[in-house]
Amino acid sequence: MTRNKKYRISGRVSYLMYLAIILLFARCEPTEITPKDEGGYCFVSSFGGLGQLYKSSGNQQLDQWHYGEYNNLAQKFGVMPDIYFYTDNSGANAYFTEQVSNNQYPDGTVAIGFNLINKEFANSPTNSGISIAIIMAHEFGHCVDAKYKVYSSHSFRNELFADYLAGCYLHLKSMAVGDQYVGEVASSFYAIGDYSFNDPGHHGTPEQRRSCLMSGYNFSKSKVGIGYGLPEAINNAKNYVAQF
Ligand SMILES: [Zn+2]
Repeated sequence: MTRNKKYRISGRVSYLMYLAIILLFARCEPTEITPKDEGGYCFVSSFGGLGQLYKSSGNQQLDQWHYGEYNNLAQKFGVMPDIYFYTDNSGANAYFTEQVSNNQYPDGTVAIGFNLINKEFANSPTNSGISIAIIMAHEFGHCVDAKYKVYSSHSFRNELFADYLAGCYLHLKSMAVGDQYVGEVASSFYAIGDYSFNDPGHHGTPEQRRSCLMSGYNFSKSKVGIGYGLPEAINNAKNYVAQF
C-alpha cells in the first residue's frame, strides 16, 4: 500500500515537473566555468564547450528533486562532486570531469543537460523520469572511478564500470520506491548504447550497457540482509567489465 501511495505521488510530481521543465526554463544563478574542450567520453578532463553552467534549473520543484537525488548519491557513493545543469543543444548528454570548480566539492564536477532531462521524461512510460536519477548515478560512478583510480586510461570500460555502479544504485533506490521502474531504466541504458567501436566516444554496445547495469542491480540485490561496501562494489564492477 505504501508503495502504491509513493508511486502515485511520484507520478503526479513528475508530471508537474515535466510540464514545468518545458514551460519554464528561466534559469538563474549562472556560473562561469569554460575550460577547454577535450571531450569524447562523458568522462572528460574539462567542461569546455558546454557553455554556461547553472546551479538552478529555474524550477523549484525540479531543483528540490535534483538535490535530494544528489544527497542520496553522495551518501551511497561516498563522493562529493559539484553539480550543475547546462544547455545540451549539441545532443542530450551528461558529463563528469575531475576538475574541481569549488573546493567545498573536492571530487570533481558533474553537469546534467536540460535536453537530456526533457528527453528522459518524454520517454518515461511511468512518467517518473527515473532514468535521470540513474544517469546521475552513472556520472557519480565516474567520480568513484576517478577518486579511487580504478582505471589508468579512458576507454568504453570506464563507461561500463559506471553503468555497473549505476545498477547498484538502481537497486538501492528500488528498495525505497519499488521495482516497477527497473525495466524502464534498463531500456533507457540500452537505448544510449552504441555500435561505434572505432569512435573515441564509444560507450559500449546497447547489450553491454544493459548487461552491466543489471549485473550491478543483481549484485546489490544479492546483498540484501548482508550489506556491502563501496570497495566490494568497485571490485565486482571491474571484474564484470573485464570480460568485454
Ligand atoms: Zn559516462
